[in-house]
Order: sequence, then C-alpha cells, then structure tokens
Amino acid sequence: MLNIVIFGAPGAGKGTQSELIEKRYGLVHLSTGDILRAEIKNGSALGKQVEAVIADGHLVSDELIIALLEQEIARHKDAKGVIFDGFPRTQVQAEALDTMLAKHNEKVNIMLALSVEHNELVKRLLNRGAQSGRADDNIDTIRKRIDIYNEQTAPVMEYYKTKGIFAAISNDTTVDECFQRVCNAIDKVNK
Ligand code: AMP
Repeated sequence: MLNIVIFGAPGAGKGTQSELIEKRYGLVHLSTGDILRAEIKNGSALGKQVEAVIADGHLVSDELIIALLEQEIARHKDAKGVIFDGFPRTQVQAEALDTMLAKHNEKVNIMLALSVEHNELVKRLLNRGAQSGRADDNIDTIRKRIDIYNEQTAPVMEYYKTKGIFAAISNDTTVDECFQRVCNAIDKVNK
C-alpha cells in the first residue's frame, strides 16, 4: 500500500491536494474533518457529541478520533493506499496510526507537509467560509484553529522527520503547481 499523511494548517490546501492525489494514484481519501461533518449532518450520536467542539475550533478527543480511524482503516484494508487528511493532529494520534497500520502489516510511507504564510491562510479560510458556510470558518474560530495547529499539531512533523519520511511542500502557488510538487515527492517513495 501507499499510505500518505497530508499535513498542514487549516487552509493549507490539504483537501484540494488530497482529491487530486486520490484521482492520480487511485488511493482512498480519509478526511477526519469530512467524516465528522457528515456525522453532524446525519444527526448521529457521534455527530451530536462533536458538533460544539468543532464549531468552537477545538480538537476532538484523541480517543474518539483514534476509534474512528481504526474503523476506517479496517474498512479500507484492501485499498491501494490511503491519504490521511487531518490526521494525525497530535503526537498520541501519530503513534496510534503506526500501531493501527502495523496490525495490517502496513506503515506510513510519507508525510507531505503543506505550508502557507499566515495571512494567506486566513484569507483562504474566510473565502472558503463565505462559499461553504462552514461553521468554523469565521475570523475568531480561524485564529483559534491556527493557534491550536501551531501549539498541538505542528510538533507532529518532528515525529516524521525523525523517521526520515517527511517532505516539506510550499503551497504559496497555484493548485496545479502545488500538485506538481506533491507528485514529485510521492514519486520518490512510490517506485
Ligand atoms: P478539518 O476539516 O480537518 O479542518 O477538521 C475540522 C475539525 O474537526 C477540527 O477543527 C477538529 O475540531 C475536528 N478534527 C478533525 N480531525 C481531527 C483530529 N485528527 N483530531 C482532533 N480533532 C479533529
């Protein structure tokens, strides 16, 4: 399998690039944010549990999100590979992902870390909020989510750097140019 972690602050382009990777490489795209938003829309018990946390810009508990991922990984064990989008967001989640994949004799092949300058992130998220109506794409929640990313999530990059499976990709450019950079990084590990 080809397992990719796509990483970066809110608004860095993870969802957009994941969709392109999904098409080009035939992988399954697992976005924890999309899964949780679908649960909220369905009015499920899980959705009700996480709705306020997400609207407020905080992280859902590691326990809940790891249990969710465990189910999804089992469901897609025959896939050509998985793009993990929005997961892991903490060190605990990063270690849990390795454990879960090891149960299927699998591992993460590469982390692609997208970076976008702070003001540009805010601009892109406000724009997305105006179009999609996402409850957490308003200025106060955007600032909080970026702070939480910097404090709790960004340190996860070290975990993958230490393992030597880390690629930094600047997304200060067009979708197509960024995708070219993404493909170059993937093709190095997907021979
Ligand atoms: P996203 O669409 O990835 O920006 O995720 C939207 C929201 O879902 C986040 O702000 C969190 O509240 C929650 N969420 C998604 N993935 C995770 C995760 N791996 N750990 C904790 N919370 C998460």
